[in-house]
Amino acid sequence: ERMAGHLPTCLKGLDNALCGGIPFGVVTELVGPAGIGKTQFCLKLSLLASLPSSYGGLDGSVIYIDTESKFSSRRMIEIGYNSFPEAFHAEGMAQEMAGRILVLRPTSLSEFTDSLQKIKVSLFQHGVKLLIIDSMAALLAGEGVQGPQRQHSLGWHISFIKSVAEFSRIPVVVTNQVRSQSRDETSHYSFQELSRVDRPEATTNLDSHLVAALGIHWAHAVSIRLVFESRSGQRFIKLAKSPLSPPLAFPFNITSSGISL
Ligand code: ATP
Ligand code: MG
Repeated sequence: ERMAGHLPTCLKGLDNALCGGIPFGVVTELVGPAGIGKTQFCLKLSLLASLPSSYGGLDGSVIYIDTESKFSSRRMIEIGYNSFPEAFHAEGMAQEMAGRILVLRPTSLSEFTDSLQKIKVSLFQHGVKLLIIDSMAALLAGEGVQGPQRQHSLGWHISFIKSVAEFSRIPVVVTNQVRSQSRDETSHYSFQELSRVDRPEATTNLDSHLVAALGIHWAHAVSIRLVFESRSGQRFIKLAKSPLSPPLAFPFNITSSGISL
């Protein structure tokens, strides 16, 4: 059997540290404060996954789970024109690219899982090369079941997301927001912090038991964690968890071309 491969991010240092990019078949988590660039990164990945291979893309489709209505096709096309001008000035390319990115807005985690369960077995065959969940916290907050039952349910859903990555052999990228805070270089975000969100509606739904449960299940589900942060006005992507690399930080900017070095 062939190795599943990687989705290059176009950030050279990061791609080198990840041995080629975001790996297929596992869950990669993007963590960071509001406005740091997690969604911008997801938009760029969507373009890279869907671009024809003649322009360096994976020539695939993308399923983009947009739980907070932050996906902007206008912004994505702007990034496309500025990052891949040759491709985007080709006749009909902008429309074709937009058509390859399927944006879903499920109203609950169960709704999301139900729809994904139906297509799980055929994701790879149908040319889906990337699944994005932006963001996870908003999906979890939608779960209605209470108490231990909810923890059990959450664990099941998180394992399901991991199994989708393994079974379909596509990269699954999940975002989570954390409060911005100054920390020294060696410290790590705790799972409690990872689960904390600033939006009041999500905070009230994420009680302490739920947060604890999310931490444990999440710890096992995520293979790679990229922490987005800002220091003295410079943005960095920190490779905080990886089986292949020590913790490394890569500077980046956000411009009209999206995330770039
Ligand atoms: P949240 O957790 O709230 O979803 P996020 O990490 O997803 O936040 P993004 O939406 O990815 O944040 O990033 C927003 C930032 O992207 C803005 O603060 C702005 O600095 C930058 N940005 C957006 N569009 C442009 C643009 N056209 N040119 C330059 N920078 C831009
Ligand atoms: Mg976002």
